[in-house]
Amino acid sequence: MADDEIQTRTCRACGAAYRYPVLKSLATRFHCESCVRLDAATRETFEQFNKRIKQLSAELAQLQRRTAKETQPTDG
Ligand SMILES: [Zn+2]
Repeated sequence: MADDEIQTRTCRACGAAYRYPVLKSLATRFHCESCVRLDAATRETFEQFNKRIKQLSAELAQLQRRTAKETQPTDG
């Protein structure tokens, strides 16, 4: 893949999907345009929250799968 090809990326700070690189957009490789405008400390806090949210989402999905397995009778 060429380096300057437009890709859909996920912002590290807010988790939003954005296109990069886009002409005149401030978005960077790791952050969407809105998060680029935050100051570094705020962005860092967002990143930590986002990491935690991702972790919790994964745990929740795991629990949901486990619960689904336990409540459904094995059919097959
Ligand atoms: Zn963002």
